[in-house]
Amino acid sequence: MAMPEGKILICRAVNSPGYVVPGSLPMGCHECNKVVWVSPASLLLLHDNPEMQIKCMTCAFAHMASHEGPIEDLTRAQMEEVEEYLRKVHNNGND
Ligand SMILES: [Zn+2]
Repeated sequence: MAMPEGKILICRAVNSPGYVVPGSLPMGCHECNKVVWVSPASLLLLHDNPEMQIKCMTCAFAHMASHEGPIEDLTRAQMEEVEEYLRKVHNNGND
């Protein structure tokens, strides 16, 4: 049995364009300390799962690439959002 690494909460960076859920709070990425929006639903998740690590999309994706374990809270829609975000970052080069 592998050691549980804790769940990851993927959040959108505050400097990335797009819809921000009303009531979101800016918090630091666990990995790179970039400020990200944490939505109210995510805050509830954090409350119930204090071991969760907030990660910006870039760090979350890097984590996924280097860890085989499942990420329970990543839905298919979120995965698509991550991939779309990374495409934009890559194209703009302004991350
Ligand atoms: Zn990060």
